[in-house]
Amino acid sequence: MIRHHLPDDLLLSMAAGTLSAGPALVVASHLETCAECRGRLHSLEIAGGVMLEALVPETLSSQALAKTLAAIDAPPRPVRARVIAPRPRPPLPAGMAWPRALETCSATPWRWLGPGMRWSRLMLPADPKAKLFLLRIGAGMSLAPHTHSDCELTQVLHGAFHDGRDLFGAGDFDAADDTVHHQPMVQSDGDCICLASVEGRMRFDSRLARTLAALIGM
Ligand SMILES: [Zn+2]
Repeated sequence: MIRHHLPDDLLLSMAAGTLSAGPALVVASHLETCAECRGRLHSLEIAGGVMLEALVPETLSSQALAKTLAAIDAPPRPVRARVIAPRPRPPLPAGMAWPRALETCSATPWRWLGPGMRWSRLMLPADPKAKLFLLRIGAGMSLAPHTHSDCELTQVLHGAFHDGRDLFGAGDFDAADDTVHHQPMVQSDGDCICLASVEGRMRFDSRLARTLAALIGM
């Protein structure tokens, strides 16, 4: 059961198409599993369409109609079938599927982050600089205490963690910024895997964790 949903401001940005590639992918991953947020997004898109219809029409150039008709009549350019080659990705626990939103992403193998902790960097063709990660933390382990210089969006793909504010399970979404100081602790019944988009930096309390995060680019 999903308990933590997308906030309205993110849904509005998604509807308007103004989210950058990394955050949009985390939001899309949540939408795949959440009918409630898909419904809210649909309502916002309808509201946006109504607002467009209410806009005062602009006067176009005298050639606008002729140019548009010519473009419609132009012979179509040959379109090559889009083939999505299998992407290199780290192995997942049995029964866990990749979100469809990650279809075009490749990912590094799992890399060591600390005892019981691994990470993988995702590469987005649309935005190679996007800081998008998979974090895999073992049962009963916790990420070091930290806050954020900007916004961190997280979608729980597998397992569950509690960060002092609440319990986040598979399908749940979280947005954390500099007002949130937390230490996600994974529940004792299995690994937790999260998809995270990091804008700015994660600000860990400990110097060692800060150094590790800087090496990884978090
Ligand atoms: Zn939702």
